[in-house]
Amino acid sequence: MSDCIFCKIVAGEIPANKVYEDDYVLAFYDIAPVVPVHILVIPKEHITSAAEITAENSFNVAKCFEAIAKIAAEKGLESGYRIVNSCGEDGGQTVFHLHFHILGGKVFKGL
Ligand code: AMP
Ligand code: ZN
Repeated sequence: MSDCIFCKIVAGEIPANKVYEDDYVLAFYDIAPVVPVHILVIPKEHITSAAEITAENSFNVAKCFEAIAKIAAEKGLESGYRIVNSCGEDGGQTVFHLHFHILGGKVFKGL
């Protein structure tokens, strides 16, 4: 997707503070963190939102969650963290390339 900011990060066309990369997944620090550890985990393949996950592309999601577990362990989040996905406009999604927020370094209570 030529106008997608996260595809541009995957392509190296705009910078990001990367924390993890493999063939399927890229993770980088959120540009506007809302908690002490705020990392975004994205599939390299453009998937617009969680509503677009299918049997054909869902392996990318599994790879994202494998990466999340590794990153959280590396970042010392063994006491817990929150994984957040904003899906669609009413879900508060602002970047329309599937991404999972790792939110850590604070204690969450409820939703
Ligand atoms: P959401 O609002 O759930 O779609 O999440 C989008 C997230 O992307 C927000 O937390 C933004 O701060 C973050 N973001 C937007 N542009 C960039 C960027 N260039 N580098 C890192 N994070 C970004
Ligand atoms: Zn994209």
